[in-house]
Amino acid sequence: MSTHQYKNNGDAPRIGVYICHCGMNIASKLNVAELAEYGKILPNVAVSRDYKFMCSDPGQEMIQKDIQEFNLNRIVVASCSPLLHEKTFRQAAADGGLNPFYFQMANIREHVSWVTKDFKEATDKAKALVSAAVRRVAQHQALEKKRVPVHSDVVIVGGGIAGIHAALTIANSGRKVYLIERQPTIGGHMAMFDKTFPTLDCAACILTPKMSAVKNHPNITLWSYSDVTKVEGFTGNFKVKIKRKPRYVIEEHCVGCLLCVDACVFKEPKFDDEFNLGMSKRKPIYLPFPQATPLTVLIDPETCLQLKRGKCKQTCAEVCERRAINFEQKEEEIEVDCGAVILSTGFKPFDAKRVPEYGYGHYNNVYSSLEVERMVNASGPSQGEVVLKDGSKPKSVGIIHCVGSRHAKTNKYCSRVCCMYSLKLAHLVKERTGAEIYNFYIDMRTPGKGYEEFFDKLLKEDVNFIRGRVAEVTNWAMTAKEEGKLIIRVEDTLIGSPRRIPVDMVILSVGLEAQADADEVRRMFGISCSKDGWFTERHPKLAPVSTMTDGIFLAGACQGPKDIPDTVAQAGAAAAEALALVDKGFVELEPDTAFIKEELCCGCRTCIGMCPYSAISPNLEKGVAVVNEALCKGCGTCVAACPSGAASQNLFTDEQIFEEIEGVLTYA
Ligand SMILES: Cc1cc2nc3c(=O)[nH]c(=O)nc-3n(C[C@H](O)[C@H](O)[C@H](O)COP(=O)(O)OP(=O)(O)OC[C@H]3O[C@@H](n4cnc5c(N)ncnc54)[C@H](O)[C@@H]3O)c2cc1C
Ligand code: SF4
Ligand code: SF4
Repeated sequence: MSTHQYKNNGDAPRIGVYICHCGMNIASKLNVAELAEYGKILPNVAVSRDYKFMCSDPGQEMIQKDIQEFNLNRIVVASCSPLLHEKTFRQAAADGGLNPFYFQMANIREHVSWVTKDFKEATDKAKALVSAAVRRVAQHQALEKKRVPVHSDVVIVGGGIAGIHAALTIANSGRKVYLIERQPTIGGHMAMFDKTFPTLDCAACILTPKMSAVKNHPNITLWSYSDVTKVEGFTGNFKVKIKRKPRYVIEEHCVGCLLCVDACVFKEPKFDDEFNLGMSKRKPIYLPFPQATPLTVLIDPETCLQLKRGKCKQTCAEVCERRAINFEQKEEEIEVDCGAVILSTGFKPFDAKRVPEYGYGHYNNVYSSLEVERMVNASGPSQGEVVLKDGSKPKSVGIIHCVGSRHAKTNKYCSRVCCMYSLKLAHLVKERTGAEIYNFYIDMRTPGKGYEEFFDKLLKEDVNFIRGRVAEVTNWAMTAKEEGKLIIRVEDTLIGSPRRIPVDMVILSVGLEAQADADEVRRMFGISCSKDGWFTERHPKLAPVSTMTDGIFLAGACQGPKDIPDTVAQAGAAAAEALALVDKGFVELEPDTAFIKEELCCGCRTCIGMCPYSAISPNLEKGVAVVNEALCKGCGTCVAACPSGAASQNLFTDEQIFEEIEGVLTYA
C-alpha cells in the first residue's frame, strides 16, 4: 500500500461525517438526526449524514460517492466499535481514493447507546465524541503499511485430535509442520476412550490411522515428549525453542518390539501406569499404550534401577538387537522458524477430590468418568470389563453429572460434553454389566447433531434419570437394603422430595478445566486467557480461531470445553487460517507503531526496559533508541515512559490526542 495511489490530501481538511443507526442499536437510544445536523457545524466538515447501516454496501458506497462529489479528504464514522468495523471503513475510504488512515471512528454504540440510558444525555455524549473525532481526524497523516515476508512452516503445540487434524490438513496442502507434544505419545484424551458419542464408533479405529498418518507424513516432524520453552519474533517470523526430554531410547532405532520390556529385571509390572490412571501397573521401561505414536518405548528415570542408582544388569539393553537403549541420552534443545503457530493444548479433567462430599479417593468404588473410560476400553486395565475393586460386577451404578461444573464453588460454566459422555457411559456400563443405571442430572444438555436422538435411545434402554443435584455420597446405611452399598442422597426435583439411592458403583462425570500451565503457555505466546484459564479468541463470532497476536491460532479444547466434532471443525478452521497466512508469503504490518525522534532522544534507555515486546534496541553509534516496527505492537508504553518526549506513535501523536481532548471539551 502506498500513499501516491491516493488522492492528494495536502489541501485544507474537508471532512465527511457519517452517523450510523446500527438498526435500532443506536437509533433507539439517541437522536441520530440531531447528531448528523450537529456534525455539519463542526470545523472543516463538508458533509454530515445519518444512515441505517453504514457498514452495508450502500453505506460504504455513500462514503465513496461523497469523497468524489464533495472532494472530501477525511472521513469520520460514528458507529460501533473499531474492533468490529474500523477495517471496513478504512477500506471504504481507500476504495474512494483516500489514504485509509485519513479516517477516524467514534464508538457511539458500546460507549454511548449501550451504556447511557437517558436519551438526551446519550445524544449529548455522542456529540462530544463526534466533535472529538472531527478535531482529531484533521491532524491525521497519510501512513503506509509495510510488508514483511512470512516463513512458510507451521508449528503446532499439542498432539490431541485437534493438533493431529490441523497438522494433517496443513501437511496435505504441501506445507511443513512441526507437531510438539509433551507426552510420550500423541492422541490426547481421545486415545483413552473406547467409543465416542453419539455414533458409538470405536475411538481407536478413527484416531489411530490419523496418528500413524502424522508419523509417516513427509511434511510432518513429530516431536513427542517435548516442551516449548521460548517463543520470539513476530507475525510470520516466529522462532520457537523446544526442549526434547530424554526417553533413554533412540527413537530412530526402536521398532516397538517390546523385547526390552519383557527382559527388564523387574519381572512383574510394579509402578502406576499413567495412561490407565494408575489402575494398572507398568515396568520402568514401557510403551504408554499399544497404539502409541511414535511406537517407541521410554524409560522412567524415577523407577529404572540404572538411571536411579547407576546399577542394574541392563537386561533391557542386552536384549535390544537394534541398540536402541541409551542411558547417556541427554535433554536436547532445538530451535525452529515458522510463520504461524496453532495452539491445541486441550484440557485437564476436573479433580473430583475437590468435591469431597462425593467420596472420590475415600470410598473404593467411586470412580471418575475418565477412569471408567479406561475400564470400558478393550485395551484398558480390565480388558473392557466394568468391575468393582473386589473384581465383581456392579449390579447398580449411579452416574453423577456436572461434577465441578455449573457451581459457584468450583466452575460456573457448563462443561458441554459431560451430559453426552454420561449417556455414553450409561449405555456402555449397562451393555457390559446389565446393571441398573441411575443418571443424576441438573439439566440435560444435548444440543449437537444426533445428540437428542442418543438421549431418546438411552431412555428406551431403561436407564433411570433423576433430576436434582446430588448432595452427598455416603456409606451410612439406614436400612438393610442399604447395607454394604454407597448411598446417593439427592433431592429429586421432579417429584419434589429427597431420595436415597443405594448403588454398588458411583461414576463422577467430571467437568473440563484449562490446563494447569495454561497461564505460562499464554504468556509465552503473548495471547490472553479468560478468568477460567481458557485461551481467548480474537472475536467470539467473527474470529473464533484467531488470537489478539497475529499468526497465533487456537484449535480444540484449549479454548473452552468442546466435543470431538467441534474440535475437529475448529482445527480445520485454524489450519485454514494458518495456511492463508503462510501461503500469502507476506504480512502487512499496521502502521500504528512507535517511533523515536532522534533529535530529542537522550539515550537514557528507559523505553528499552519498558517495552513488553522487546521491540526497542539502542543504536550505540548514535546513542539513541531505535524501534523495530515489525516487533512493535503499538501498545504505547514507551511513549508514556519516555522522559524526553522523544518516543511517539503513529496515529497517537500528541497533536492528535490533544485535538481529540479539545474536541470533547469544546462540546462541553
Ligand atoms: C470422560 C470424557 C469422555 C469424553 N467422551 C467424548 C466422546 O465420546 N465424544 C466426543 O465428541 N467428545 C468426548 N469428550 C471430549 C473430548 O475429550 C474432547 O473434545 C477432545 O479430547 C478435545 O481434543 P483436544 O485435542 O483439543 O484436547 P486433548 O485431547 O486434551 O489433547 C491436548 C494435547 O495437548 C498436549 N499438551 C497440552 N499442553 C501441552 C504443551 N504445553 N506442550 C505440548 N503439548 C501439550 C496434551 O498432552 C494432549 O496430548 C470426552 C471428554 C471426557 C473428559
Ligand atoms: S528398545 Fe529395542 S527391544 Fe525395546 S522395543 Fe525398541 S527395538 Fe525393541
Ligand atoms: S536398566 Fe534395568 S531397571 Fe532399567 S529398564 Fe533396563 S532392565 Fe529395567
